[in-house]
Amino acid sequence: MPLEAKTQSLLRQLPGVDHLLLLAAQDPALAGVPKTIQTRCLREAVDGVRRAILKSGAAAPNTAGAMESAILRDAKARMQQASRLNLRRTINATGVVVHTNLGRSLLADSALENLRTIAAHYSNLEFDLAKGRRGSRYSAVEEILCELSGAPAAMVVNNNAGAVLLTLDTIARGREVIVSRGELVEIGGAFRIPDVMAKSGGILKEVGTTNRTHARDYEGAIGPQTGLLLKVHTSNYSLVGFTKSVSLKELVTIGKTHGVPVMEDLGSGTLVDFSQMGLLREPTVQQAVSTGVDVITFSGDKLLGGPQTGLILGKRKIIEAIKKNPLTRALRIDKLTLAALEATLQLYRDPQRLLQEVPTLRMLLTPLEALAQQAAKLKDTLAAIADTRLLLEIVDGISRAGGGSLPMLELPTKCVSVQVAGRSANSLESALRTAEPAVIVRIENDALLLDPRTLSQEEYGLIRTALARVLMDPAESPA
Ligand SMILES: *Cc1c(COP(=O)(O)O)cnc(C)c1O
Repeated sequence: MPLEAKTQSLLRQLPGVDHLLLLAAQDPALAGVPKTIQTRCLREAVDGVRRAILKSGAAAPNTAGAMESAILRDAKARMQQASRLNLRRTINATGVVVHTNLGRSLLADSALENLRTIAAHYSNLEFDLAKGRRGSRYSAVEEILCELSGAPAAMVVNNNAGAVLLTLDTIARGREVIVSRGELVEIGGAFRIPDVMAKSGGILKEVGTTNRTHARDYEGAIGPQTGLLLKVHTSNYSLVGFTKSVSLKELVTIGKTHGVPVMEDLGSGTLVDFSQMGLLREPTVQQAVSTGVDVITFSGDKLLGGPQTGLILGKRKIIEAIKKNPLTRALRIDKLTLAALEATLQLYRDPQRLLQEVPTLRMLLTPLEALAQQAAKLKDTLAAIADTRLLLEIVDGISRAGGGSLPMLELPTKCVSVQVAGRSANSLESALRTAEPAVIVRIENDALLLDPRTLSQEEYGLIRTALARVLMDPAESPA
């Protein structure tokens, strides 16, 4: 048969979607896939095979039977892809604890339980059970936040970016906000202090220089238009060398003298004094509150280890004004977040339980000996793959707090280094990243590094399965 005629004949024999749907109905693996998705995927697969035949590539199916199986195989892959959730579990083997790209903090079990209870049932979210009338959703956490921090009043919104925006909008709209040039920072995700200021309607007044700002700089800048002195904790970078900044305590004194409120954006904000645990010093929320500062804000999902939230603590008058600001409604947290936050904060009442049960704190504080044991166990689990190309070693490494927290902190750890003969680290990294579940690793010296600090032991087996699959895959993608 001439080529042209052969192509025409094949195209005529392409199976119809109705026929294919009947075949798909016989595949138990596709039982849960909705008809609409099946139909769409089968159509796309038919189109794909039609295009392949028109191109008459060597790989194009050349019999009716071959066409049908090619279509079904492709459609099945498409259906599986379409049924998969886009947001899904990912294994963090990077050793970066508060990994912003991987979802920051993991919730404690009690927070998860409470979240489930509140999600599955009606709750007193905005109902005062004692009085039998409308209540405030924020009351669930106000008291405990004040108890833990020593602050007179508290409030919570969606995230810290929202907390900063809302607070500036409430206190400083149309007025000057004095900030040190050394603190005009950018936090990832395009959160820049000058931009947030502009959005809030506050008028930025920079003082000092990049590396040095003195008390007299603030004092010289205060005038009749001044609405706020703002301090920003430079949580994601560190200035070393010939530097000078004004402490929060000093700033509060200046504010008091001139009758101007003082605010600090603490960023990661911790209620735990890490310096007492042999880690670097990060100013605590309690220390900030004790200076008499008017208002502070910080994130709930960084070092606090709770859900994504922005916590605002401060003087009663300011918190009341914030609650009345219409922006508050736009930034309000939902009940699931509130449920998880309250349960997380409850753990802070019991310091021993806290360090074991809040995953972020537990991971940051895992001792090196425990990490060495975990690395050995992980290595053994992977060695069970029994592939001669696999080279596993335990090496010294560094874990990080991440999330723009404790930027200078280097946490010594033990990693499992993974190499595969004949395969580049880049190609392995991408194969694991696109595995199911995805495994995210670091590369150092052309080896993969798996840090047990951010892994649960139950994930070792999942990593082994993913790695074993990668090793079985003959397709070596170019690095
Ligand atoms: C992280 C951070 C923010 C933003 O907080 P989100 O909770 O991510 O919105 C703002 N300011 C500082 C100093 C930060 O470190």
